[in-house]
Amino acid sequence: MEYQTPKSKCQLCKSEFTGRGLTKHLKLCLTKHLDRKGKTRTNELFYIVVSDTYDSAYFLHLLLQGNTTLEYLDNFLRDIWLECCGHLSAFMYERFGNEINMKRKIKDVFEPGSKLSYEYDFGSTTALTIKAIDVYYGSTDKNKKIQIVARNAQPLIPCDNCGQGQAIWICAECQWNESGWLCERCAEDHECGDEMLLPVVNSPRTGVCGYTGQYMRTKLR
Ligand SMILES: [Zn+2]
Ligand SMILES: [Zn+2]
Ligand SMILES: [Zn+2]
Ligand SMILES: [Zn+2]
Repeated sequence: MEYQTPKSKCQLCKSEFTGRGLTKHLKLCLTKHLDRKGKTRTNELFYIVVSDTYDSAYFLHLLLQGNTTLEYLDNFLRDIWLECCGHLSAFMYERFGNEINMKRKIKDVFEPGSKLSYEYDFGSTTALTIKAIDVYYGSTDKNKKIQIVARNAQPLIPCDNCGQGQAIWICAECQWNESGWLCERCAEDHECGDEMLLPVVNSPRTGVCGYTGQYMRTKLR
């Protein structure tokens, strides 16, 4: 069954777009909305897009201060999208390539057009692609190291059982057979039992390992 793709909002001007139009829009919107006081290299901001390598429904458009480390980005991604039980993770120049030291800074690993791979959990892996779109000068909102400028709206996933309701649970057992999305009604008498059910979360890790989106949040330094 296909995803329906709801529109996602630009956080700067609140306009709504479908996936593709968003990047084009943000390039313009960032130029308009950035606070560009003091145009120096120290104010370098990287506009990057993080997306699920296999499912374009999940993406984050971010503005990062150039001095931010990969480690900080790793924590940020765990916090918003990935953390279930503290698995290992890595940034790489290409899939299965050499790991990049997490102490490195965004401005030293990215330039416009460059791309990194990221993996969380080397067993039930969630693979992300991180693309640098452009560099701007200015300040982020409240001087945050990472500012979210857009995030995908939650995909509406139909129930695999009745095909009618919207899935709010996923069965960890059935998902191995590419099914297991369940609406509230169908979840009640699902054969695998309650303990197999995970909540559907707006994350590429939904239904994987024990991901519930409720992990004790790691502190961002
Ligand atoms: Zn906008
Ligand atoms: Zn886990
Ligand atoms: Zn159903
Ligand atoms: Zn099941």
